[in-house]
Amino acid sequence: MSEAGVEKVVIIGSGPAGWSAAIYAARANLNPLLFEGTPQPDMIPLGQLAFTTEVENYPGFPVGNVRAFVESSVAEDRHYNLPPLPKGHEKNGQPHYAVQGVELVELMKQQALNFGTRVIGDDIVDVDISSQPLKVISRDNGTFAARTVIVATGARANYIGLPSEDKFKNRGVSACAVCDGALPRFRNKPLLVVGGGDSAVEEATYLTNFASRVYMVHRRDSLRASKIMQDRALHNPKIEMVWHHVVEECLGDDKQGLTAVRMKNVNDGSIREQPVVGMFVAIGHTPNTAFLNGKLEMNDKGYLKLTKPFRTHTSAEGVFAAGDVADDYYRQAITSAGTGCMAALDAERWLAAQGFE
Ligand code: NAP
Repeated sequence: MSEAGVEKVVIIGSGPAGWSAAIYAARANLNPLLFEGTPQPDMIPLGQLAFTTEVENYPGFPVGNVRAFVESSVAEDRHYNLPPLPKGHEKNGQPHYAVQGVELVELMKQQALNFGTRVIGDDIVDVDISSQPLKVISRDNGTFAARTVIVATGARANYIGLPSEDKFKNRGVSACAVCDGALPRFRNKPLLVVGGGDSAVEEATYLTNFASRVYMVHRRDSLRASKIMQDRALHNPKIEMVWHHVVEECLGDDKQGLTAVRMKNVNDGSIREQPVVGMFVAIGHTPNTAFLNGKLEMNDKGYLKLTKPFRTHTSAEGVFAAGDVADDYYRQAITSAGTGCMAALDAERWLAAQGFE
């Protein structure tokens, strides 16, 4: 049954989960409509991959002349969105590197577009999922009715929560080295990264391209990051580990922005004031579920609850979840893409079971 004015599948989110769901739904002739989002504080369309440099662990993308492939695949009018080539990665005079986050997700988007996915650059600000048809309410384009909705809105970076941290956001404090690290204010200056996971190591390593020194501040004395990432941080001569410390205050003034960070040693309570012009916070993530206004069941951290083992069904009929918005454990591009595929297949089967074909 094809109904006027009622979408079969609406996908919310434009990271690997959203685009994978779109590719599968489009190839199943479900004519998906995907809401890509708009730039927000700490969040941009294309999801967290857009904040990432080289992605070395996405299968199918070994190091090579990635840019030639990306430029031949992605529509020319989106080439402006491609990041600069990583410096010093060449072989036989050609670029030679692992796919960058933006390139990877632009390729996914192109693949979804090639199969007819319709994309709207808007945010969904509310939903009505109490009865069929489901409704998604966008900020600028009105309300859309749908038989199924796939929530793939991902997660965003956490901040420490200090008032002084807030005060210096965009003037020294950031949660995205890839977005902000190359800014003139950070060049050849001491910078600081907070956290001990893969993101913190990635941020710190990336920042060594610009900084005179990078202090990595961690509340314990061992990193949570994977072994290969740990080695990268611990062997980088520009990175200095500051173990057993937490940031208590960001210091600076209106004119200069951030100039130093005050930290406390959690073992002996001693205080260290470290002059830095940048503090990059990499202490985990919060799922983007606020727009659901509590209408789907969530766990205690706000991640969507999947209600059937090894399936993507949520607590509402016809609503499926994919990617980091429902995953506080794996949180990888490849697992997000996998669950995006699962959500599209689950939606397709749900539509068939309900007779909405
Ligand atoms: P994460 O693994 O949850 O690490 C968060 C880090 O921040 C931990 O070291 C934690 O300390 C610290 N932390 C949390 N709250 C804090 C607070 N209030 N004050 C100070 N420190 C705090 O998060 P992530 O690094 O963003 O990684 C998330 C997922 O993405 C992981 O699965 C990771 O493997 C993946 N990822 C992979 C790559 C890659 O493979 N290239 C890159 C980035 C992320 P404790 O250790 O003491 O808890």
